[in-house]
Amino acid sequence: MTTLTTTQRERLAVAVHEAGHAVIGALHGATVSGLRVLSVVDSEGRNGFCSYKPFSGPVGAYWGRILAAGPMAEAVFRYGPQFNSGQLAALLDARHTDRDELARLAFSHGGMTVPSTEVLPLLTRCWSSVAELATRLYTHGSATHRDVLDALGVPGTSVQQHHAAAIRSGAVPGSFTVRTG
Ligand SMILES: [Zn+2]
Repeated sequence: MTTLTTTQRERLAVAVHEAGHAVIGALHGATVSGLRVLSVVDSEGRNGFCSYKPFSGPVGAYWGRILAAGPMAEAVFRYGPQFNSGQLAALLDARHTDRDELARLAFSHGGMTVPSTEVLPLLTRCWSSVAELATRLYTHGSATHRDVLDALGVPGTSVQQHHAAAIRSGAVPGSFTVRTG
């Protein structure tokens, strides 16, 4: 592996962050409509984003997990899976759109903050998929929902729920493959 410059490493951190949102989102039934890493910070102060088609059915119930997945993936990338709460809090402060939305959810759901215990095992299990998608984002600057499914080794949208359920429940992969990039 070649050594990355600081600029390259920061771009990769953003790519991992957005890939974390996208992978965990897809596993909970979300369809990604936009997935980008930006070379120049946009008018909203973002250096990347992951957007979704309007949620239907139960996806909205998992919004907190999808929000948390970005900063948590970034924390794993920067500090390893044993990152501490202070490191995560600093990342949430740096990318405050996630933090603000999580705070809004916490208010409306009575005390829920960052759903780490639900998200971290999933992220760890799917880390090779997150890494593959992040590499694509880093290289191309954007990715599609199809790319997210490809990174997860899910062959078609019609079986998405089946695969997502298998991965979420912790089933040992066998009916699907997770490629390592
Ligand atoms: Zn985010």
